[in-house]
Amino acid sequence: MKNDLSPCRSVCETCTKCPLHETRTNVVFGVGNPDAEILFVGEAPGENEDLSGEPFVGRGGQLLDLYLNGVGLDRKENIYIANILKCRPPKNRDPKPEEIEACLPYLREQFRIMRPKIIVCVGRIAAMTLISPDFRVTKEHGIFFDRKGTLFMGTFHPAALLRNPKYKGDCFEDFLRLQDKIRELGIKI
Ligand code: SF4
Repeated sequence: MKNDLSPCRSVCETCTKCPLHETRTNVVFGVGNPDAEILFVGEAPGENEDLSGEPFVGRGGQLLDLYLNGVGLDRKENIYIANILKCRPPKNRDPKPEEIEACLPYLREQFRIMRPKIIVCVGRIAAMTLISPDFRVTKEHGIFFDRKGTLFMGTFHPAALLRNPKYKGDCFEDFLRLQDKIRELGIKI
């Protein structure tokens, strides 16, 4: 492994920069292969993630894994998964702007160390934070945006798909587009 995220993880695990540290069970720093060239970014830990310390677990996580595995990706092997916020907002409310501002430096440090070629924003909040503040998932999902040489793509959050299964097909098409892009860029997975 050439990319070492552990110093950043250590700082993050004792972070008290925003009030979410008071109610968290675990800091959810990320999971996967730090040498991967594909980074998935979600919004924030939910209850299961807070309890386990891992992003995207529970039913939503199983759905995400299904899509990942369908295009040859695996959260432990060839991608990395992180969140905008590393601690759970109470009752899964949307992150507050000041919480995002406080926490984003950790994600930026993850970017800096990993230098991923593709970043997949999972859900509205991640896409609005990283691609464009007026990003509309239903209209702009699956489109690649070049930001200083890194490609960003937004797709549906699995929790939203569990509430709204009609978008499941659209979401899998996004993963197929991702697979095409991985091949086009010659990324080894
Ligand atoms: S959410 Fe981020 S900034 Fe807030 S306490 Fe957790 S790690 Fe620190």
